[in-house]
Amino acid sequence: MPSSVSPRSAGTTISALFSFLTLSLATPVIGHAQQPQGAAKTAAKATPTEAALDRLAKQPAIAKAMAALQSENEWTLTEQAAICEIPAPPFKEAARAAVFRDKLAALGVQKLRIDPEGNVIGEITGTGPGPTLVLSGHLDTVFPEGTNVKVKREGTKLTAPGIGDDCRGLAAVLATTRQIIANKIPFNGRLLVIGTMGEEGPGNLRGVRALFSGPLKDSIDMFISIDGTGFGITNGAVGSNRYRVTYKGPGGHSYGAFGMPNPIHAMGRAIAKIADLEASTNPKVTFNVGLVSGGTSVNSISAEGVMDIDLRSESAAALADIDARLQVALRQALAEEKARWPKSTVPLALVIDTTGLRPAGTTADTSFIVRTSLAAARTMNVYAPLTISSTDANIPISKGIAAVTLDGGGVGRGAHSLDESYDDRTDGFKGPQWILLVVIGLLTTR
Ligand SMILES: [Zn+2]
Repeated sequence: MPSSVSPRSAGTTISALFSFLTLSLATPVIGHAQQPQGAAKTAAKATPTEAALDRLAKQPAIAKAMAALQSENEWTLTEQAAICEIPAPPFKEAARAAVFRDKLAALGVQKLRIDPEGNVIGEITGTGPGPTLVLSGHLDTVFPEGTNVKVKREGTKLTAPGIGDDCRGLAAVLATTRQIIANKIPFNGRLLVIGTMGEEGPGNLRGVRALFSGPLKDSIDMFISIDGTGFGITNGAVGSNRYRVTYKGPGGHSYGAFGMPNPIHAMGRAIAKIADLEASTNPKVTFNVGLVSGGTSVNSISAEGVMDIDLRSESAAALADIDARLQVALRQALAEEKARWPKSTVPLALVIDTTGLRPAGTTADTSFIVRTSLAAARTMNVYAPLTISSTDANIPISKGIAAVTLDGGGVGRGAHSLDESYDDRTDGFKGPQWILLVVIGLLTTR
């Protein structure tokens, strides 16, 4: 999921709202309750991207697809629930991947395959030369094996672990793909439809990493992940460095062996230093010791003190800076605990395992992919804020490839919790409509 999403770009927010109020680029098929007046007067103010998307939305094949996404909304919700009921714990997403591949095959997606990492990859070839765009969702969940994933439905609300994150994204990808194929929507280039492995914490973006180091790495021009609910555009990638840090010694009796370095005490010294690290607020930098463990009994010197540490920032330089200071603190704690017992010859070791590295970066607000995403939202009269988060898009963003993570519409609650819910309300269909317009916009209007 897009964890710790933070809205930003007040300027964009205001301009998006302004456009929402003043532009009337609505298509006849979206079914707005209210059409703003004065379209002829204000249309001239539209940026080229908005004007192009407005024209695009009115093309017969696209208008038909947009209408079908609304009238066949139940299909999308049925798929969302069906995918959710196939368990997909970290590193055990293969069963869901196989079903996702079969669903894409049934829609007519070509060249379907599962790559060595487990990603499902299919293609829709455009009618002329052009860029390669990825449209993806992630297959994994955070929930362990044995979690009850049965979907409970009450009206428009679906409740089950993973129903929003990322079953909504996968269903939106299917619904959009289905209409592009069924309506033979013309576009240039190539659309790669992908279900990725390992987006969540333990997976450490392993699917998308493999994608950008495998045979497709040099041919992907643009990348979209559908992850999250609502209408956010994530174009800022929060980077994170995660470590499991272990202080190790032989351990012994708390009374009889007293006078030797104590791994838990060394860890305590390290935690005190970490807690006092300076961290800037702009760019935002965070640190956290999230888990600690170790120990044998109250009257034993532990053989181990273990802690899991998470560092984050939207700035790659700031992340590298706090990481360097963390490394110093960990070594100082080791030296200080050894120095505390100068007569002891008992060893004390520090082991640092890297458990996650997610690169930081930003796809510019002024980039074609962000402008198209914003303009498509305006065309549909929905408000789409720009946000910063940690998602599959981190990897292409860090490589300088135009990439965003878009939300899939609807209203989500309780992601990563057992009572996670997704409410489609009256206009969940606008999520897939928005995605379709962005995808086709990116493959036709440049
Ligand atoms: Zn997700």
